[in-house]
Amino acid sequence: MQILDGRLVAQKIRTELKRKINSFYEKNKIVPGLVVILVGDNPASQVYVRQKVKMAKQVGIHSKVLSLPKDVSFDKLKQTIQNLNTDPAIHALLVQLPLPSSLAWKEVIAHIDPRKDPDCLTAENQGLAWSGQARVLPCTPAGIMKLFEHYNITLKGKKAVVVGRSQIVGLPMAQLLLRANATVTVCHSYTKNLSQITKEADLVVAAAGRQGLLGKNDFKRDAIVVDVGIHRTVENNKKILKGDVLFEELKNGVSYATPVPGGVGPMTVTMLLENTFQLACLATESRTHA
Ligand code: NDP
Repeated sequence: MQILDGRLVAQKIRTELKRKINSFYEKNKIVPGLVVILVGDNPASQVYVRQKVKMAKQVGIHSKVLSLPKDVSFDKLKQTIQNLNTDPAIHALLVQLPLPSSLAWKEVIAHIDPRKDPDCLTAENQGLAWSGQARVLPCTPAGIMKLFEHYNITLKGKKAVVVGRSQIVGLPMAQLLLRANATVTVCHSYTKNLSQITKEADLVVAAAGRQGLLGKNDFKRDAIVVDVGIHRTVENNKKILKGDVLFEELKNGVSYATPVPGGVGPMTVTMLLENTFQLACLATESRTHA
C-alpha cells in the first residue's frame, strides 16, 4: 500500500507558492492578505486557525486572526465582515466553521464578498463552481485533487464513492471527481448498505465525520482510500487524531491511502494559502483593468 503523503505534497506546493508570492510582490508591491474570523473558544478551531496563520506567514501572506466572543451578535459579526470586505489589504476572508449554534453559518457566509471567499462557500461562488467557472476551488476537495495529481492517479473511468454530502467537502468533491470523468456515487446518512457500495469502488473519499466508520472489509483490494475525517481522541493517555477510516487495518489491503494526521489536513491548509494568493491576483488584475 502506498501512503498518499499530504505533508510532503503540501510542502512542495508551499515552496512553489512562496516563490510565486515573491515574484508577485516584486511586480506589484502587494502582499496577499488573509483574515480568519474565529468566533468562540472551540479548541479544535483554535488549533486549525493557528496552523493557518503560521503557514500563511511562512509563504509570505500577511495573515491575522480576529477573535470574537461566542455570544457575539449576528449584527456585530456582519459588520466585522463588511469592514473586511472593503479593506483593500485583505484578499481572503475565512470564517472558521463550525460557528456557535446561535449563528446560522449560511447567513453569516452570505455577507462575505465572493471575491474574498477562499473556500468557495458563498452562493455566487458555488454557482460559478458548478458551471465550471470557479474563482477558486473549495480547499479540501481541491487539495485532494492535488494529491491525485502528485501521485499520477488517473480518475478517468474510475468508480468513485464520496461518503458525505456537505457543502464544504462531500458535494464539491463529487463535482470535481465528476469533472475528472470518474463515475461518482454520493452516500449520506440515509444510504442503505454503505459497505456494499464502497466495496465496489475504485476510489473512496470518506467525509462522514464518523470516527472509524470504514475499515478494511469495506474496500476492495486495490482501492484508493482518502480519509477526510478528523477526530480528536485519547489513546494510552495521549491525545491523538483519528479519521473516518481505520487506517491501521488497511496495511496491504488497498493500493493507496491517506493517513490521519498527515493526509488531507495539510493539503486543506495549503490550498487556503494558494486560494488567498489566487484571489490577490484576481483583485490586482481587476484593479489594473479598471
Ligand atoms: P458534515 O457533518 O457537514 O457532513 C457529514 C456528511 O456525512 C453528511 O452529508 C452526512 O449525511 C454524512 N454522514 C454522516 N454519517 C454518515 C454515515 N454513517 N454514513 C454515511 N454518511 C454519513 O461534515 P463535513 O463535511 O464538514 O466534515 C466531515 C469530516 O471531515 C469531519 O470529521 C470534519 O472534521 C472533517 N474535515 C476535515 C478537513 C480536513 O482538512 N481534513 C476539512 C473539513 C472537514 P447527511 O447529509 O444525511 O446528514
